Amino acid sequence: MNPPIIRTGHGFDLHRLVEGRKLILGGVEIPHHLGLLGHSDADCLIHALADSILGALALPDIGHHFPDDDPVNQGLDSSIILHKVISLCKERGFHIGNIDITLIAERPKLGPHLPRMRKNLSELLNTPEDCIGIKATTHEGIGALGKEQGIAAHAVCLLIKA
Ligand code: MG
Repeated sequence: MNPPIIRTGHGFDLHRLVEGRKLILGGVEIPHHLGLLGHSDADCLIHALADSILGALALPDIGHHFPDDDPVNQGLDSSIILHKVISLCKERGFHIGNIDITLIAERPKLGPHLPRMRKNLSELLNTPEDCIGIKATTHEGIGALGKEQGIAAHAVCLLIKA
């Protein structure tokens, strides 16, 4: 029997924090006086995750599949992006082995919200929660992220073709 084919992928995304927008991370709305600016719902966690999966499949990034100058994508719910990426993954015979995400945000404190994000991603990806890592860290007050000008996310994934 042939060994499984495995692929790793990495994704990164960053959005600016502004007034008058909802803060949505991992498909979960987080109470905060600022939200992320973007053409879509600006969910940088899901964008980084989607790009990690596309990267593992050696496909173009989410900007190719969901152009930010297309009015159709205005205010887009990023769970739709994730559904599309998962279908591309399945079409190629891969499923998710595990994912690991690091959020970088000075404020708000994201720790209390991570379990909800993890549960939501588990449902969106149809992947057990114990295969989904989400961590949050600050930027120690340094640079734009440390000055609360934005929130960033790194994601890595492992895909398996059994
Ligand atoms: Mg983005």
